Amino acid sequence: MADFVVTSAKILSENKKREIIAKLGALPEQVSFRVDEALIGGIVISDGERVLDASVKHRVRAAAENVQVALANKPLEHILSSLKEEFSRSAEKPEKVQAGIVRSVQDGVIFVDGLYKARIGELLLIAGKHFAMAMNLNRDSVGAILLTGLEQVRAGDAVRLTDRIVTVPVGDQLLGRVVGPLGDPIDGGGRIEAKSYRRAESPAPAILDRAKVAEPLYTGVKTIDAIVPIGKGQRELIIGDRQTGKTSLALDAILNQKGKNVYCVYVSIGQKTTTVSDVIKRLKEGDALSYTTVVSATASDSPTLQYVAPYTATAIAEEWMYAGKDVLIVYDDLSKHAVAYRTISLLLKRPAGREAYPGDVFYIHSRLLERSAKLSPKLGGGSLSALPIIETLGSDISSYIPTNVISITDGQIFLESELFHAGVRPAVNVGLSVSRVGGSAQPKAMRKVAQGLKLDLARYREMAIFAQFGADVDEETKALLERGVKLTSLLVQPQGKPYPMAEEVVEIHVMTGKFLADIEKTKVHATLDKVLSHIRANYPDILSELEKTGDLSEELAARIDQAASEVIA
Ligand code: ATP
Ligand code: MG
Repeated sequence: MADFVVTSAKILSENKKREIIAKLGALPEQVSFRVDEALIGGIVISDGERVLDASVKHRVRAAAENVQVALANKPLEHILSSLKEEFSRSAEKPEKVQAGIVRSVQDGVIFVDGLYKARIGELLLIAGKHFAMAMNLNRDSVGAILLTGLEQVRAGDAVRLTDRIVTVPVGDQLLGRVVGPLGDPIDGGGRIEAKSYRRAESPAPAILDRAKVAEPLYTGVKTIDAIVPIGKGQRELIIGDRQTGKTSLALDAILNQKGKNVYCVYVSIGQKTTTVSDVIKRLKEGDALSYTTVVSATASDSPTLQYVAPYTATAIAEEWMYAGKDVLIVYDDLSKHAVAYRTISLLLKRPAGREAYPGDVFYIHSRLLERSAKLSPKLGGGSLSALPIIETLGSDISSYIPTNVISITDGQIFLESELFHAGVRPAVNVGLSVSRVGGSAQPKAMRKVAQGLKLDLARYREMAIFAQFGADVDEETKALLERGVKLTSLLVQPQGKPYPMAEEVVEIHVMTGKFLADIEKTKVHATLDKVLSHIRANYPDILSELEKTGDLSEELAARIDQAASEVIA
């Protein structure tokens, strides 16, 4: 065992010495005592390698550093009161004042010697101005990820515990803003005067604090609202290969919340800067930025910042949920988040598991997505619905990260390259896409018209494969194929053009009803457009009644048929 040197400002009593020896678990001859008046008060213990500094001198220096940071630009009268505050704080918790030293820095990951009392997730202050978050508590060091000062922190810098965890600005001041991974503005729109802050990581609502998912969250995309309906508080995964329309689908869902009193948060994780600026442009053009916050950690940000971005975004969304609002959050995408976490974990020297991901990558994603919820009325009844995105390789949804996130979410929308290239856009594979809880939130009218749609489409896709081989098909199959082609084209929808629920119901009703045979397969869109404009112009009450009641009575269906027949006949 190493020998200890205990330095104190004053000569210690024998009792005190015995106490210290006992606390160190050492033999009396292993501990030597020294006096150094420069310490002012307190003691410093060293075992040759590590130093535990609980001296007043150290506290004063640390307090001075804190004050320096906090008051960089403030007038002199503030300085005195903050000094007082800082000193009274360090007097309250003398045991927390602890110094450490940066031993190594690599790609935003640091190892610190000497912080024996650090806690997981605790914010560390480096050289009085940079911040890191403790991730690994080892026997002889603390592994942490740098949140600021990535280029500046050097081995040898002093590190202090702050007894705080990462908090980010939240509240209505963030609406319409683009912020970085820690909530700092990056849109050139000036400072965000946030009225409140929230922990980036916080526990998910408890089971008893939750209510059932029962209200629809319309995306305005016909395929989704009809076949994989989403409810408020649900987590629905968007999964597919690259360039299959994942981002566009999520953006359409955001665009469709206009005027519906739903706040939105879009968080980019590891996307290209150009992609993010395109997203912002599309939100602006769709007049959606006013109720949306964009949190951006691009591919050029460090893995550490990419890792924290979704937690920041969730905190921003959560603030509104707990204030009783409905919120929609898009995580674009969690595959890149997993990769960032893998990089950090490897740098932290954690053991690698399947596909070199650390074993707890499942846990970090479930912890994140469990924070989406529909709150009970007692807690204000707010909701947070989540659309996480996962990118697959070669449509392989059975690899590690996809299976993890599929099992965490309440359903998935599976987008397929083949369909996308065949012009079926959004390229939803209706056979593999499910919504496990949204069905109960779907309005009756939509449930009625969508009933047969999913089955017909799935059967059609199956048959279409056979038909490709030029097999002779009987009349019945031919009819099924014809019907399938028409229904498929009914669901083709350009991006950025969300439909109101009532119009979706009208279109699907007309297409699945008695007019099917009369509509030519190349004229599906043109015909439906005509029907809709006719109804909008001459029978607006049909749409308003659908919107109001959410139901499609027989009488209302007959009125739609009547209106349609005036155009189609
Ligand atoms: P990445 O893997 O690069 O993130 P992604 O899966 O998010 O791609 P998007 O960027 O949303 O896909 O879309 C890819 C391209 O397809 C874009 O050029 C977009 O404009 C186009 N696209 C997406 N949805 C539709 C649609 N419904 N109709 C027509 N084009 C679409
Ligand atoms: Mg994308």
